[in-house]
Amino acid sequence: MDSPSPVSPIQSPALRRRGLMFILSSPSGAGKTTLSRMLLEQDPEIKLSVSVTTRPPRPGEVDGVHYHFRSDAEFDAMVEEDDFYEWAHVFGYRYGTPKGIIRAALKEGQDFLFDIDWQGTQQLYQKDQQDVVRVFILPPSIEELHRRLRSRATDSEEVIQSRMERARAEISHWDGYDYVVINDDVQQCFGKVREVLDAERMKRQRQTGLIPFVRELMAG
Ligand code: 5GP
Repeated sequence: MDSPSPVSPIQSPALRRRGLMFILSSPSGAGKTTLSRMLLEQDPEIKLSVSVTTRPPRPGEVDGVHYHFRSDAEFDAMVEEDDFYEWAHVFGYRYGTPKGIIRAALKEGQDFLFDIDWQGTQQLYQKDQQDVVRVFILPPSIEELHRRLRSRATDSEEVIQSRMERARAEISHWDGYDYVVINDDVQQCFGKVREVLDAERMKRQRQTGLIPFVRELMAG
């Protein structure tokens, strides 16, 4: 299989733009985690927004890299301090997007990737419609989703069942997204996700600095 071509630089010295909030949502098992990892590895202009969660770490997960793992009391305190852009209950735990550096970094043109669910997506969109781009990843079929969830060694049958139920619920919110991409073949799906990101970066409305020759034309 051909390896994917490197991402061409989108930011040109002639143009300045605001960063965007690129949301990838999907039911678990649709490949979102793999796609997120590929994007972060291959696109130097996008950073992961690391969420805070009360869920305990899974094997291999590192505090501050995959999530900021916090106790219930610590999460309560962050809610109290209005430290979250959005937060939600998912699978019995709480997950939230810390405001932290995101606001300031967007102004400087930094793009952020958000791996959040439909509830978080709705909340982020209500707060910042201009910068949010919502992409929903769908599995090719429910049967295939079931098969993928079963092949994960880490989850018990009970967890698989609850994830299937949640997947159905999650899919029912697909109309709250700007783009829908089917993940049948991960490389193809990744290519499509990148096309969306590239096109969104070029939107005229995001450009905050005029190209010098355009500025001259407009002045003259
Ligand atoms: P997991 O525990 O498998 O890492 O994630 C479970 C779900 O929580 C996923 O659907 C993921 O998108 C969602 N999630 C992760 N971080 C956040 C967040 O900051 N906010 C919201 N609303 N959902 C999140």
